[in-house]
Amino acid sequence: MTLHSPFFLSSAIPYVNAEPHLGHALELVQSDALARYQRASGRDLYFTSGTDDNSLKNVRAAALAGTTPGELVARHGAGFRRLAQALQVEHDDFIHTASDARHAPAVHALWQRCAERGDVYKKSYRGLYCVGCEHFLRESEIVDDRCPVHREPLEALDEENWFFRLSRYEQPILRAITSDQLQILPVERKHEVVQFIAGGLTDFSISRSVARAKGWGISVPGDPSQIIYVWFDALANYLSVLGYPHGDSYRRYWQRSGERWHVIGKDILRFHALYWPGILLSAGLALPTSLRVHGFITSDGKKIGKSLGNAVDPFRLVARYGVDALRYYLLAHLHTSKDSDFREALLRTAYTSELAGKLGNLLQRVCALVERHDVRIVTTGLDASLSEVTARVEAEVARAVSEFALHDALTAIFELVAAANRYVDRSAPWALARSPGQAVALVQCLSSLVHALRAIARLLAPFLPGTAREIEARLSPRPHVGAPLFPSLPRE
Ligand SMILES: [Zn+2]
Repeated sequence: MTLHSPFFLSSAIPYVNAEPHLGHALELVQSDALARYQRASGRDLYFTSGTDDNSLKNVRAAALAGTTPGELVARHGAGFRRLAQALQVEHDDFIHTASDARHAPAVHALWQRCAERGDVYKKSYRGLYCVGCEHFLRESEIVDDRCPVHREPLEALDEENWFFRLSRYEQPILRAITSDQLQILPVERKHEVVQFIAGGLTDFSISRSVARAKGWGISVPGDPSQIIYVWFDALANYLSVLGYPHGDSYRRYWQRSGERWHVIGKDILRFHALYWPGILLSAGLALPTSLRVHGFITSDGKKIGKSLGNAVDPFRLVARYGVDALRYYLLAHLHTSKDSDFREALLRTAYTSELAGKLGNLLQRVCALVERHDVRIVTTGLDASLSEVTARVEAEVARAVSEFALHDALTAIFELVAAANRYVDRSAPWALARSPGQAVALVQCLSSLVHALRAIARLLAPFLPGTAREIEARLSPRPHVGAPLFPSLPRE
């Protein structure tokens, strides 16, 4: 892998059976931060997302809403795109799997490749199915006759389906994961997957009857009585968005790329760590190089979903606090890979004391001093301790991004903010300005601070892009006072 080899990065494509909630915002913002970081490092990146339209959940949600699945996924799909825009997430591509003309041909091509390898076969199957997971559960996974994740009763199903020969790829998948050729972060999740494989991988169903799918989805090639199963269809989005099996994008950003990263929630880890590599190995395609698994946002310890969605509507939070304050809260105050409780009071405190109080105040102080004393910024004789902190923080941000611990990156950047604020207090530029013999010291002091602020802007750019741009604008062409970066919030 070289610095200039192409890079593929995706956030998962969510079910669109309801409006997006804050959990979706978290994944979008995390993956956007990774994308912006890689772009800023000069990588040729292709960053994608989309919506998983062809799931049975969408069919049921449409029936409940008295509409068609097509109408439902179009309406909610637009909501997910709006959310990405509201959060200033810059995808290179976004695929709606029901309506995008690239998707079905890619799914069919992938199916054919696996079929040619002898990995697709038909058999009768009887099992207990969780619609929440869109997945048959193993005996050992069932708790009190229910799915442990969705805690809903399971459906007993008995039908003839097409199967994928996952068992054949058990050892290659295990080797890819244990060797980190397919890296799984955090490492606890890798251990979880390795342990699961030790229990044996069984073949899985990749189709269902047209009747059960209510005719919604992509037909099995050569078997119109069957619809391609959700996961085979959904996982293929990572290829269809690149124009697979044709097209330069697919060759550039998948087959010949240096990195292929998927950002996903822990609930869909097994599908990405087992099914997806199995399908790719069968089709003779490159495996992902990294699965970055985030935690859930909880409210009083419970996963945020539809029922709690209104309470933590991401659009409301953006309107109230601004996009960067929400991005900051999600990235800095929620653990990247563990579950964290959402607390609006903490978002408010983060806004007031960290963003406005520390970062906004630093910018305002420095610009005011430069303006008042008409200081000409220089690049020599800068404070060594601030340069050292900057270099240490840069290294820490790189480590945090590579280890998918984005909260550590933000903590480190705010250590630089704190160091700069302490430096202002310690070097007391207002006192230097009063003593005629300290003119050079004053210039060097304020130049050191402007230099630190530029570094802060550069480091913040992947995480809080708007704030970074605003800091840069305030320092150019020479530092000047402007409106507060984070104005006071209206009273609650
Ligand atoms: Zn389930």
